[in-house]
Amino acid sequence: MRFDIISIFPESFTTYFGVSILKRAEEDGLIEIHTHNLRDFAHDKHKTVDDTPYGGGAGMVLKVEPLAEAIEAVNSQQPTDNKKLKTRTILFSAKGKTFTQADARRLAEYDRLILVCGRYEGIDERVAEHFVDEELSIGDYVLTGGELPAMVVVDAVARLIPGVLGNSESIETESHSEEGIVEYPQYTKPEIFRGMRVPEILLSGHHAEIAKWRKEQSERISKKRRGDE
Ligand code: SAM
Repeated sequence: MRFDIISIFPESFTTYFGVSILKRAEEDGLIEIHTHNLRDFAHDKHKTVDDTPYGGGAGMVLKVEPLAEAIEAVNSQQPTDNKKLKTRTILFSAKGKTFTQADARRLAEYDRLILVCGRYEGIDERVAEHFVDEELSIGDYVLTGGELPAMVVVDAVARLIPGVLGNSESIETESHSEEGIVEYPQYTKPEIFRGMRVPEILLSGHHAEIAKWRKEQSERISKKRRGDE
């Protein structure tokens, strides 16, 4: 799967994508991550990509021309064989639909995601209306830019791609693999830390009892999270 990220700060991605599972996935050829500097699509020698908002107001707005041209240029990068990449273009926006695990599963079905990161006061609305397929938010708060949301989406989607995680079982049993259900509590050694004990059942070796306890815990925590109790 290929990820293309359009940002005015492409260097923000180097560290996060350069370690651990995502790094290995890229080395193994399971994912490709390409970053594109929006300023390369600016029209003037100062590489201007923003301007003041029509109607007045605070801050600057990312201009439609460089964004539209960047999205089109990235979209036109296709493999040399005739197979066109099944692509979804996403704009990050605090007013978009909130990204969930179901979205991660849905997006993992594409060959390529083009991820567009906003900055400043936001993006000329014509980009959202005419050049992307959907707007996603990663939560009800405002960040300074779309770079963290892009990392969140790449991470959540990439780990669903077969082969990226060593143990695919963990995808099936983890939080949100079923809507509204979260995982049971996990513990590891030592058995006692400052008087705090690991639940006795987990040391019992009774697999059926452990599975029952985990299911009950998962249901209890999920209910509490949903506010059902
Ligand atoms: N003025 C905008 C508003 O009130 O909705 C906020 C703009 S924010 C400072 C700049 C950029 O950060 C946005 O264009 C978007 O790309 C990104 N961003 C901020 N918060 C986000 C969130 N919760 N989810 C996704 N993207 C976000």
